Parts: sequence; C-alpha cells; structure tokens
Amino acid sequence: MRPEILYPLFADISSLKGMGPKSLKYMENLLGGRRIIDLLFHLPSNIIDRSYRPKLKNAIVGKICTIKVKVVEHIPPKTKQHPYRVVVEDDTEQLTLIFFKVYADSIAKNLPIGTTKIVSGRLEKFNNQLQMAHPDFILNESEAKELPDFEPIYPLTAGITNKMISKFMAQAMNKIPSLPEWLDSEFLQERDWPDFKTALLRAHHPQNLNDLQPFAKERARLAYDELLANQLALGLVREQRKKIKGKSIQGNGALRDKIITNLPFKLTKAQEKVLCEIYADQASEYKMMRLLQGDVGSGKTIVALLAMLNAVEVGLQGALMAPTEILAQQHFETIAPLTEMVGIKTALLTGKTKVKERKQILENLNNGAIDIIIGTHALFQDDVVYHDLGLAIVDEQHRFGVQQRLKLSQKGQNSDVLVMTATPIPRTLVLSTYGDMDCSIIDQLPAERKPVDTRVMPLSKLPEVINRLKHQIDEGIMAYWVCPLVEESEKSDLAAAEARFADMKQIFGNQVGLVHGKMKEAEKNAVMEKFKNGDIRLLVATTVIEVGVNVPQATLMIIEHAERFGLAQLHQLRGRVKRGNRQAVCLLMYGGHLSDITCERLNIMKQTEDGFVIAEKDLELRGGGEILGTRQSGLEDFRLADMEYHRNLLLIAHKDTQLIINKDKFLQASRGQALRTLLYLFGKDENIQNYQA
Ligand code: ADP
Ligand code: MG
Repeated sequence: MRPEILYPLFADISSLKGMGPKSLKYMENLLGGRRIIDLLFHLPSNIIDRSYRPKLKNAIVGKICTIKVKVVEHIPPKTKQHPYRVVVEDDTEQLTLIFFKVYADSIAKNLPIGTTKIVSGRLEKFNNQLQMAHPDFILNESEAKELPDFEPIYPLTAGITNKMISKFMAQAMNKIPSLPEWLDSEFLQERDWPDFKTALLRAHHPQNLNDLQPFAKERARLAYDELLANQLALGLVREQRKKIKGKSIQGNGALRDKIITNLPFKLTKAQEKVLCEIYADQASEYKMMRLLQGDVGSGKTIVALLAMLNAVEVGLQGALMAPTEILAQQHFETIAPLTEMVGIKTALLTGKTKVKERKQILENLNNGAIDIIIGTHALFQDDVVYHDLGLAIVDEQHRFGVQQRLKLSQKGQNSDVLVMTATPIPRTLVLSTYGDMDCSIIDQLPAERKPVDTRVMPLSKLPEVINRLKHQIDEGIMAYWVCPLVEESEKSDLAAAEARFADMKQIFGNQVGLVHGKMKEAEKNAVMEKFKNGDIRLLVATTVIEVGVNVPQATLMIIEHAERFGLAQLHQLRGRVKRGNRQAVCLLMYGGHLSDITCERLNIMKQTEDGFVIAEKDLELRGGGEILGTRQSGLEDFRLADMEYHRNLLLIAHKDTQLIINKDKFLQASRGQALRTLLYLFGKDENIQNYQA
C-alpha cells in the first residue's frame, strides 16, 4: 500500500484551482499523467530574468524590464488596424504600452487611469519613444511579490500557457510533503545535495541558466532518486527471482554433439562462451533469467537451439517465441531440419495455424510428443499447456517491457527464461532496463563476414542510383529499398513508400514488391516469400524489415532519408544485407542540408560495424530515449534523469542498490523504510507488492 504521506502527491490535478476540463486534457497530454507528481516532475527548461527593475530614464532598450508606473492616459485606436495605446510614467519618463487586437473594455479595466501598476516586458524604442508591446505582466502593487526575479519557463503544448502552468505549479508546490531521507547521509553530504522537497522546490525556481543544467545540485539529486528507484526495483525483482527454485538441467550432450558435428561451420569462441554461461544457469537449481545480446548475424539461433536441446536431453521441452510470424517461420525453417536429423519433434505455432492443426499441436505439447515449439505470442496463451517446459526463449526482446517479462517468467512450471536481442544496448541502458537479469554477450561475428561497403550520399543523386540499380538487378543482384517511417504521420510515410513503389514499378515491373507495417500478416508473408525465392528482386519496404528478416541473396540496401533514422536502427537495417558472404553495399541517402551532428552520425555508420560502438555513439549524440528510434523500444523511460548526462549516476545507483540489498534486502531498517517511500514515489508499486519477505 502506498504510504499516506504520499497521498497529496498522487492526487488528481483536476483538484487544482483553475483547472477546467479543457486545460485538464491538454495538461494530461503534456505531462503524460494527471497526478500532482506528474506535474511536479515537469521541470522548467528555461528562465526569463525579470530582476532588472530600472527607472525608465536609465532603462536599457531591448531588455526585459519590470517597472512601477502610474497610468496617465488611454488612446483608443483610430481604426481597427491601429493599436490601443496606454501612456504610463514613472517619476523619470513616460512609456507607451501597445496592444493590438484587444478589447478596449478589458484594457480599461486592467489599467484604470491614475492607478499604480507593475508592468514587465521587453522595452523598445520607436520614434524616440519608449514602448512596450503586450506586457507579459500587469500587476497591482500588492501582487508584485508573485512575480519572481527569475521566471521559470516550462515546456508547453498547445492550449497551455506558461502563466497557466505556473499557477498550477505554485499550488502543487504547496503540497509537497517533507519525506524521510532515503539517501545515505554521507553520500548526501559528499555531494552537497538538498533533501527531496528542497530539491524539487529549487528545481522549479531556477536563479540562473546554470540551475537548468542536468548537473545542478537539485536536478542531479532528483535524477539520482529516479535512477535509484529504477535500480532498486529491478534489484528486488532479481533478488526475488534468485530464490525461485527451477529445474536443474544437465543433459548428456548426445543431441547437441550430433548437431554440432553436422553443422557446416565451427561455433565461434563467443558462441561457446555464452553457451557455457547458459548451461551453468540451466544446471543450477534456481530459475534462469538471462539476457543474450548478440549483434545481427552473430549466430544466436544456433545458441538458442543448443540450449533447448540441453533441456530436451533430460526429457523437457523448449519453446522459442519470435515477435512476428515471418520470424517464427524463419526460425522454424532453420531449426526443423536439424532437429529432424537427431530424431526429435519440432512444431510451429502461430496465429495463422489452422484450428485443427492447432488442436493437434496443443495436444502433443500437453502429452510431451512435441519437444520443441517455435512460434509467436500464441505460445504463451492461456490454453497452451506444456507437458514439461524446461526453457522458454524470447527473441528480439526489446519490444517487451519489464512487466511483460515478469509475466512471462511467472508462466507456471518455473522454466528457465532466455531473452535474446539483436539490438546492441549500451551497458548503462542494460542496467536500467534489464537490471533484473543476468547478461551474456556474443561479442564476435563468424569470421568470414565481409564488411558492408557503406556510402553516404545526398538524395539528389537518386536518378543515378536508380540507373545503376537497373544494371545491378539485370546482373542478378537483389536489393532492399527502405523508406522512413516517422511516428508523427504514419499515413504520409506510408504514402511515400507507396509512391516510391509505384515509381519503381514503372521501371522494374513485376520484379519489385512492397511491404509495410499496415499490411496483413499473410500479405506480407506472401511478398517476403516471393523475395526469398527470387521472383521479386527489389523490395520496397518501411522499417518492418528491420527485425530479423533473413534473405541471404539480398546484398544491396538503399535507405532513403537515412538522417531520420536512429543509428541503432540503421545498424539493424544494414545487418539485413550482411547475411551472405558476398560483398554487400549500403547506401545511406540523406535529404536536405546536413547538420554537423547528422553528418557525424552518418559517418559513424561508415566507420564501424560494431553495434556496441554504434549504440554508445547514438546514446552520446541523441540521448537514451531515442536510441532505438522510438519509445516502443521498451527501454526504461526516465522523466528526471537523462541518460545523455546521468549515466554516471546510474552506475552509482547500481552500486548503492547492491549495498542496500546486501545490508537490508527486505527494506526494514529505517533507511529501508524510507526507500520504500521512494519506490512508491516513482510508481514501482508492483515491484514492492510482489516482493515479500
Ligand atoms: P542472429 O544472431 O542475427 O539471429 P543467426 O543465428 O540468424 O544470427 O545466424 C546468421 C547466419 O550465420 C546463419 O546463416 C547461421 O547459420 C550462420 N552462423 C551461425 N553461427 C555461425 C558460425 N559460428 N560460423 C559461421 N556461420 C555461422
Ligand atoms: Mg535472430
């Protein structure tokens, strides 16, 4: 249960004064939530300095000035095109306030002649007269203290002004309780950080531009709190999981040896190393929860198969789940011939499987006749009951989040779980997103792969590229043509891909095909099938081909508007043409003018094919949120911490968590109790509730 002390922070923002239904909708959009805490975690991104309070005579023109004046005269406009003018003065000089398109009534009401007002805005000079157009503030003397020297400016959205948000914020700030300190006191002193409440208050009252920096003390403290909550939550899940008794699996190696001797290649050192780690987990009496990272083409499939066979050797079953039907089908095609050779039964189960066949498969899964099952989400539906599942493998995991992972691992039988991802993830992001798991990396590609010849060129070269493509396709080359998909307007991007497809059809006729995310799975599969067997030689696609698609004959990739993609995404895409051992080519075509950063980013793609280097660079240049192109990546999404700047703090939070868990893993001591509050504060309720002593 959430501690009572936090209730005010979790109240609905609709309770704030001045929050009508309209503003509420806008605010919810802006904040991504509608609790007071969501509002308070919305920190200013800029300030306006209103501390300059000169006399008019000495005031510097062009600066934001805050001045006490007396209202002298109203000059209504001659025509609608003219502004309404109000002359005001202090004891040194006169100033004209200018209003366009404003109701005379409201001005008369706000600025009655003879009254004293505080006005604040940018001072200008026109025809040798001091002017201020549309002052930002017109206040009574009694309200003057509401105007801070430094006005925080918040990130906004349509329908919400800075004034509105400041008013809401002022109310919200009154609700911040003093919370017990969850940080180690020595650490706090060493860093000279304020307590949580002070930090939050100060973060909303920046006094200069430095206070807006990620390393300003109050911001660093808040970021650290968020990171610690993240690490602790994952740490607790991990602790809990380590206690779950699993199956101790140690096969005799008969099936595996036979397969390995029949492979047309030798396993790489890296594959052998991760297999050792996986076998050790399987042998232990506790449940395995391991992340297997390996770049595109590093050979994860065979690793997955061998791990499943280890379970099959002791009479258990293995399951391999892929995110799409195409990928499940592909895995099945790779794996089935091998398992057939050693006399074990493998089946494919997807949403496409016919009812009758599905029934048969479920029966055979239940009675143990099927040893290995490959499929999509269909594998983990409620009516799928395994005879005795030893190992569940999830491929391309970055599409699932921590909570889904929890669910998967809770799916009965305490089978081991191996999660595979082809997206190289920087270490810090692994910690923040997969901190509950153990991690293995295949850090080496099979030796014979030739590097991809990667070139960066402007879209203006398109006609030449298409010309060459004609010759290349005549010579038997197969190619991908990738059109960008930008989140904001999926429709128009789809239109762009369709238009490109139409262009290409004019030139290449039936040799060109189109796949995109809005197609039915069956249609997509049909096109992919044609591409695989060479009926289609040029595949126009949106990024749906990013994950795992395997057509070794395709050796050319052209990416339109490459500058719009994340580096990690480009890397994934390029990996598609690196499958065979022929020389592959990748053209990164950019539109418009290239900024320095974009140029640097695209050049990295030319310089290296090491996915981890690329991922780190991407993080450096664009920040964590964008590393996989979109938020759907399933990577942890921080509000106060910024992975571009706070990576170091994450490492400290990770260490801190280990200490906490070693000392007081049930969070019972006084710091432990405070840490519980921290977890609730950052919405890690589920992690606490699932965690029992
Ligand atoms: P990914 O890690 O991207 O899933 P795959 O498992 O699909 O990679 O392997 C890519 C290709 O490399 C496959 O054709 C596979 O047979 C081959 N392969 C896997 N391991 C090796 C190896 N040790 N030596 C040579 N080729 C290998
Ligand atoms: Mg794969």
